[in-house]
Amino acid sequence: LLRQASLRIVEQGLLRTRQTLDSYTTSFGELHDRPPADIVFARFAGDEFIAVLPGMVDRDEIDTVCARIHEAVAAPFVIGNATAQISVSIGIACAPFDASDPADLLVNADMAMYAAKGSGRGQHSFFDADLRHKIVGRLALERELLEGIANDQMLVHYQPKFCAASLKVVGYEALVRWQHPVRGLLYPGQFIAIAEKAEVMCELGEVVFAKALRQLSEWQGTPRALPIAVNVSASQFRNPKLVERMEEMLNRSGIDPSLIELEITEQVAMGDFGLARQTLNSLRDLGLHLSIDDFGVGYSNLNELVNLPFDTLKIDRSLIDAVGKSRRSEIVIESIIQLAAKMGQRTVAEGIETQDQLDFLRSAGATHLQGYLLARPGPIADIQRFIPELHLLTAA
Ligand code: C2E
Ligand code: MG
Ligand code: MG
Repeated sequence: LLRQASLRIVEQGLLRTRQTLDSYTTSFGELHDRPPADIVFARFAGDEFIAVLPGMVDRDEIDTVCARIHEAVAAPFVIGNATAQISVSIGIACAPFDASDPADLLVNADMAMYAAKGSGRGQHSFFDADLRHKIVGRLALERELLEGIANDQMLVHYQPKFCAASLKVVGYEALVRWQHPVRGLLYPGQFIAIAEKAEVMCELGEVVFAKALRQLSEWQGTPRALPIAVNVSASQFRNPKLVERMEEMLNRSGIDPSLIELEITEQVAMGDFGLARQTLNSLRDLGLHLSIDDFGVGYSNLNELVNLPFDTLKIDRSLIDAVGKSRRSEIVIESIIQLAAKMGQRTVAEGIETQDQLDFLRSAGATHLQGYLLARPGPIADIQRFIPELHLLTAA
């Protein structure tokens, strides 16, 4: 595949042949003492290639070359009896504007390539100083995140979940926060994506899980003991050690597993169906409750969905937000609730912000409610102080 793809890139993308490509090295493998006069194309590492285009500084011209390269690899490749469909991500750095030292130029092109990858398949990106800024900032944040986890800067805020019928608090969702020594309190939107890339997400997930277990053990035997839901990220869910680690932590804590609920997003649950079902089954065998989070925004195959072993469906805030605005969305919500009810599953409507949404969801039959209208997430001590007050809502 590497050979075929590179040949197409050379011939259809760069409009050269193998023979007319220039080279950096002499036939003895030593660097030439002159810069190349024509295009150089070489495999750099793994599936990474480098193209040097001497004298090409016009952005439009470079865009055209990239478009030809994307097109060159677009048609499937035949390898033996199999076919392969690939795409390339291209990062571009120009000398001497972006860097004049070859090593820096490569580093900058590499950053631009990662930016291209980040924007989807088959893209190309130019390096610019902003990008360096962003990437350097992200690398710093990655390092700080590792330190933050090690130095116990992660906090958990809890958001109550309410029974739709009684409006009583029946559980909490644990939501991670990062008390950054300089930047202050950071929310998941500001660091979860970085954690996923830095592969520290599994560690972060364990920290949250451990904190939830500790909270439950503090409550043990008191009337305050209510189930806690913990979010599981994509990389955590794919980690083959997930089940084993959770089992270990549960055993060590002695907490009744049915007090822990795991929230897995629809997107992750539907990602690799076979694996998802197997993992969900093992988690359920541990006695944990399972929820599908952010339901209604992914592309669920309903037939697959109904075969997954979960207890609760959490209807995404974007759908709840459409209540009162779109009758069609309301019908979708009603149908999801009925579907779940017939399957014996609970439904949590998340992100309830208005009284109209609350009224609609109660009458539509959602079993549980969560949202700023009822209670915002906060430190457990604050939340619990409010609970007696929250229960007064029942009277309203
Ligand atoms: P999620 O699991 O869907 O959590 C709900 C998010 O919506 C939370 O945001 C919550 O504060 C917010 N929310 C709740 N009610 C309302 C409302 O009425 N209106 C609005 N506008 N927002 C509401 P948060 O805490 O920023 O978390 C965002 C996402 O980050 C979570 O979405 C979850 O996917 C992820 N996350 C949070 N904590 C963890 C964690 O410990 N582990 C993992 N893997 N992911 C986490
Ligand atoms: Mg959640
Ligand atoms: Mg959600």
